[in-house]
Amino acid sequence: MAKTGGKGFSLAKRFYTSRTLGLALGLVCVSAAMYPLDPAPWVWALMLLNGLLWPHLAYQWSRRSPVPYHAEYRNLLVDAFLGGFWVAAMQFNPLPSATTISMMAMNNVAIGGLRFLLVGSVVQIFGMGAGMLIFTPLFIAQTSQLQLYACLPLLCLYPLALGWICFRQADTLGRHKRELLALSRTDSLTGLLNHGAWKDQLEVEFQRCHRTHQGGAIALIDIDHFKTINDTYGHVAGDIVLRQLSKMLKQNLRATDVAGRYGGDEFCVILPDLPLSSAALVMDALRDRFATLGYEQSPALKVSLSIGLAAFNPAHSDATLWLNDADQALYEAKSTGRNRVICCGDGKPRRELLDPV
Ligand code: GH3
Ligand code: MG
Repeated sequence: MAKTGGKGFSLAKRFYTSRTLGLALGLVCVSAAMYPLDPAPWVWALMLLNGLLWPHLAYQWSRRSPVPYHAEYRNLLVDAFLGGFWVAAMQFNPLPSATTISMMAMNNVAIGGLRFLLVGSVVQIFGMGAGMLIFTPLFIAQTSQLQLYACLPLLCLYPLALGWICFRQADTLGRHKRELLALSRTDSLTGLLNHGAWKDQLEVEFQRCHRTHQGGAIALIDIDHFKTINDTYGHVAGDIVLRQLSKMLKQNLRATDVAGRYGGDEFCVILPDLPLSSAALVMDALRDRFATLGYEQSPALKVSLSIGLAAFNPAHSDATLWLNDADQALYEAKSTGRNRVICCGDGKPRRELLDPV
């Protein structure tokens, strides 16, 4: 059971509408059953109080409670007790009694599952006991036509309202679940896929390449001397550089390419259906553009990229070997002078792609 006020408060608010509607319609149904029994004025007063005033009191009680969830739980038990009480007061008139009991059962099971259904039923029996002590314990075996019609609004409208509330709740939960899933797959600084999510995509792409016998390439991109950038210009400037690179990746890649932040100052891209030579051209254009970027806050700041590329190799048994190839190429780009694109298997820098460092 939740202990947070927020959850309880929204629960109280959600059931305020359904209680207001349910008890107002219930008043019509109970009044029609009670009228022929000629009840005392205090019984009419209690009926009106329960049907019209109680929903608002219950809501205010929950709102002002330090733990609204518990207050609302108590309110629902009061509902159950009074429901049982009115069933006895109506002298178990079949249709109004069955309507009251079944609507409450539906309410309780929707709110708290079988456990709350059971608790609610027990409390309802206590309510019936109290009713039987106060009123003559009799059983009226017949429901009049007027009483039947008086039950119809509750029977037709209340399930509709409760169903709508449950649907809205399920819809909100579904949306929250999707948002949380997206959040768990996103790198918060750059908005790109995070390490785990990108590797999931790499696995999918690896399987797709195997299945369709089509090629593709992956790139590992690392910012050169990023630690020095942080040390010289500060971590805020470092973050701006990371965001700039992610923005550039989003703007310059195809919709089918999948970019992610591998970690720290390292980024990763899947380039489906692209020959290695074309992928190298794309990455070199990116490297070139990034090197010429200016930074408003730090005009002297110049940043370069080292990029390792690897083509899909059908001989590889799993995606990590593909990633290793790209890592190897990145290592080579770093060790041969940085600010360059190296393709795995080249063994040497692609001269035609190099910029003078
Ligand atoms: P190399 O040229 O060999 O790549 O050297 P480097 O300095 O770029 O690489 P190194 O791995 O030594 O440093 C990466 C730095 O990135 C270290 C870490 O403090 C910094 N870093 C990691 N994540 C973030 C971040 O989110 N924001 C900022 N500003 N810095 C980060
Ligand atoms: Mg680096």
